[in-house]
Amino acid sequence: MNEKCSKCEKEAVKFVEWKKKYYCKEHFNQYFIGQVRKVFDMYKIPSDKKICVAISGGKDSVSMAYALSKFCKNLEAVHIDLGIGEYSRKSLGITEEICKNLGIKLNVIKLKEIGYTLPGLLQKKKMIPCKICGIVKRYLLNKFAYENNFEILATGQNMNDIAMHAINTIYSSYLIGLKNFKPFLPKDKEKTVALIRPLFFLSEDEIETFLRINGIPYLKEKCPYSEEAFSTKIKETLSILEKEKPGFLRKFVSSLIKLSDLVKIDIKTKSCKKCGFPSLNDVCSFCKIVK
Ligand code: SF4
Ligand code: ZN
Ligand code: ZN
Repeated sequence: MNEKCSKCEKEAVKFVEWKKKYYCKEHFNQYFIGQVRKVFDMYKIPSDKKICVAISGGKDSVSMAYALSKFCKNLEAVHIDLGIGEYSRKSLGITEEICKNLGIKLNVIKLKEIGYTLPGLLQKKKMIPCKICGIVKRYLLNKFAYENNFEILATGQNMNDIAMHAINTIYSSYLIGLKNFKPFLPKDKEKTVALIRPLFFLSEDEIETFLRINGIPYLKEKCPYSEEAFSTKIKETLSILEKEKPGFLRKFVSSLIKLSDLVKIDIKTKSCKKCGFPSLNDVCSFCKIVK
């Protein structure tokens, strides 16, 4: 890139389309951290809250951990080892390296140590891998954060993921699910913690730039089970729209926040009869999967 930064005289590393600005490394980092801080400011979340960051070793969670470590004072990490052979070993290796670099305590939940692995569960249940995996991860992350007295659980969905999930939610007619498309969900049930999505206003492209210009390692390998063809198609379509109309995704996710406020119906939950954690049915999805 031969352009100069719009804020100083240094060489630009990135053109942020929706802002119509070129940024050098320093000013792009400032912009990136600023977008993460924006979520904290929007919901008036103090930076000394006890936060548990879920790190898989992939680009989103790694960049999230770096950004949060710049201003959060009470941070720990949690990693779920799904037991997917070499892929899980590499994910854990990168996560350990990142936490060591950042000086964050790492907690590891090994699915194997509680009697399962993702491949084992997939043999028992005829379900889409990512669906089972999502249920297992959501349950274990919340359980860990709750039992260890964290106030907030931070997860790394970026703007593209959020837009894609919203379209999928509408497509599957689960409209009540739109209630949750917010950067921050306060604790609203027993045995849960608040949830924050610090990358809500950052795109995949911006995340890749942040990692590249700072030389931050992350797991580039794809999970052997990732083959959500339809979701990938939605994401590709969204990227085309973003290219044609820079700022499209940002407007889309900002509208989602407004839309989520309009969904007023309460989702009634019970306590799972087996584990006691919140559930829509008598037995929660996690207990149904692992029984
Ligand atoms: Fe789990 Fe799917 Fe991600 Fe693999 S790609 S780790 S199965 S959610
Ligand atoms: Zn600059
Ligand atoms: Zn249960």
